[in-house]
Amino acid sequence: MSEMKLKKKYGQNFLNDGFYVDKIRDFVKLYKGRNMFEIGPGSGALTRVLLENGEYVDAVEIDEELKPALISLKKKFNRLNVTFGDALKIPFDRLLTQPGRYIVFANIPYYITTEIIESLVLNKERFEQAFLTIQQEAAERICAPAGARASGAISFFVEYHAWRKLLFKIPRTAFTPVPKVDSAFICLSFRDRPPIETPYHKIEPIVKTAFKQRRKTLKNSLKELFKDPETILKKAGLSVNSRPESLSLRDFEKIFLMSLE
Ligand code: SAM
Repeated sequence: MSEMKLKKKYGQNFLNDGFYVDKIRDFVKLYKGRNMFEIGPGSGALTRVLLENGEYVDAVEIDEELKPALISLKKKFNRLNVTFGDALKIPFDRLLTQPGRYIVFANIPYYITTEIIESLVLNKERFEQAFLTIQQEAAERICAPAGARASGAISFFVEYHAWRKLLFKIPRTAFTPVPKVDSAFICLSFRDRPPIETPYHKIEPIVKTAFKQRRKTLKNSLKELFKDPETILKKAGLSVNSRPESLSLRDFEKIFLMSLE
């Protein structure tokens, strides 16, 4: 596919470096015979790898101009179903044609990274693992361990639902056209049981408020939610001067529980 035809508005930076395709292939091979789901197959470079290893591949692609390339793949392999439309608008039930839990592989367009991850997480009963190529900075944030500077509200949301691992970095030069930033390949393994007892929606307002003003200490930022954040923080055993990135998921849970007292 010529560089001229690729559409910036759809985040079309195609992975065309065989070295990195092979590195991803090593992970695909671990799931031989499984049903796989791809978001944004593009001209099918990764789709071919999935078809060579998976039982069946469902994919969703927004750009109908990529139909010819994907139809020729379907003719060759048959075990491929591509829905043309917006991955964020079509319910997963309509995209996934096979029973059971899928393995997701996707080189996600930058402009919808967070939305796609949120929607995978919220439908995790259909997915066992998701292997995603995303901007390096987003990858570092999403996979940040507790206490890491890179962490943000999304790190805690994803941690609640999945084990997270940044597997390797992919330089920008591996894509056509070359984007402005480097990428990374990450794995989310969806949990059957969350790591804390409190449902996430109860602690989410605290996490979001704390990170909205991440430079402020918690005793200041949490004034937006609580009359007396200092007492709550002390009861939770936390320093009133701590900043959100130094907290763990369990710490946020403690703040929520102490706010009920
Ligand atoms: N999988 C190919 C690869 O690895 O080279 C292409 C990856 S490219 C970064 C992102 C792909 O997602 C493009 O093919 C683009 O058209 C598609 N895309 C963008 N927005 C989408 C959306 N909302 N729903 C489904 N596909 C989308």
